[in-house]
Amino acid sequence: MPISKLKRDLSACTICKDRFAATRTRHGPRPIVWFDKGARLLIASQAPGARAHDGGRPFIDPSGNRLRDWMGVDGDTFYDRSRVAIVPMAFCFPGYNAQGSDLPPPPVCAKTWRADILEQLPDIRLTLLIGGYAQKYHLGGDATSVTDTVARWRDHAPAIIPLPHPSWRNTAWIKRNPWFETELLPVLKSRVKEALAP
Ligand code: SF4
Repeated sequence: MPISKLKRDLSACTICKDRFAATRTRHGPRPIVWFDKGARLLIASQAPGARAHDGGRPFIDPSGNRLRDWMGVDGDTFYDRSRVAIVPMAFCFPGYNAQGSDLPPPPVCAKTWRADILEQLPDIRLTLLIGGYAQKYHLGGDATSVTDTVARWRDHAPAIIPLPHPSWRNTAWIKRNPWFETELLPVLKSRVKEALAP
């Protein structure tokens, strides 16, 4: 299927309409479609947050600032779809649970769309697996807990680098695992630079 049709169909997807209507925010589906043929870096993330849902653009929040900082890229580079594909495990904001955290990405989304989209991105040189859902999908049995998977990042480098979610909720995790900033992040920055080099 041509990528343009795939993007059109994905943009119009309403499979989770009833599921989202039953959440506290009662929002409708709004798939955030952010990839183009030729992209060389894949950000396999979890699902858009409420701000991304409102703004129609992924990672427009403090998590996005932290992720760009980890990667060592500016906003123009990060949002250049012809270079960076942002393909989450679900393309719509899933809503909140009773504690106010984002609900998990609906599994039907990856089942319906993910394989076809990844097939349209043959030039990916580096894949960043953000959080447990993307790690499980892409690494299968190799992904245990996020902490273990990220701690074993060297097993998957240089083509794949697993990361925790850049949310403020993980600030304590980052402090508890100082190797993340001292060992992993310098390699991440260098791999991102290589992957995006002409
Ligand atoms: S989350 Fe995925 S499957 Fe569900 S409505 Fe959005 S695009 Fe469709």
